[in-house]
Amino acid sequence: MLNLVLFGPPGAGKGTQSEKLIRRYDLVHLSTGDLLRSQIAAGTELGLRAKQLMDQGLLVPDEVVIGMIDCKLRENQQAAGFIFDGFPRTVPQAEALDSLLVEYNTQITTMVALVVEDEELIRRLLKRGETSGRPDDQDEVTARKRVSVYNRETIPVADYYNQQDKYIAIDGIGEIDMIFETICQQIEAVATKKA
Ligand code: AMP
Repeated sequence: MLNLVLFGPPGAGKGTQSEKLIRRYDLVHLSTGDLLRSQIAAGTELGLRAKQLMDQGLLVPDEVVIGMIDCKLRENQQAAGFIFDGFPRTVPQAEALDSLLVEYNTQITTMVALVVEDEELIRRLLKRGETSGRPDDQDEVTARKRVSVYNRETIPVADYYNQQDKYIAIDGIGEIDMIFETICQQIEAVATKKA
């Protein structure tokens, strides 16, 4: 199985690259942000509670997102692999993911981290906000909050995978297709080494 964590701050291009990766490698895309937004759209209680935190640029509790991922892994047991997008965002989430994957006799193949500097992220988030309709993309204060939450709470997840020798950093600035090809080369190098 090919199980990728696509890592990086909000606005780094994870969603865009995920779409291309799922097509090339036939993976199931698990984006906790998308899963939460569908809960909001469906008007569930979980969605309503999550929305209050998401609109402020804060993280939703670990057990909520871990529960959603657990459910999706269960539903997709025949998958060729998964791409985790926007998850894990804390070290406890990363630990929980490792334990869940053990249950399915598999593990994370590698983490690909898209690196983009903070001011470029803010520019991208506000630009996306012009068309995305996402409340958390609409104003600079929330965009900056999300980037600072990432720097404080999520960056340690990179170390977690680095310690397992599963961390690959890729420059997230440049042409989308060139970044994509660089990601694929790195993934294939890891897969060949493991084979
Ligand atoms: P995203 O679409 O990945 O940018 O996520 C949008 C928002 O959903 C984040 O700012 C968080 O409020 C929430 N969220 C998404 N994934 C997670 C996660 N793994 N842990 C906690 N909160 C999350």
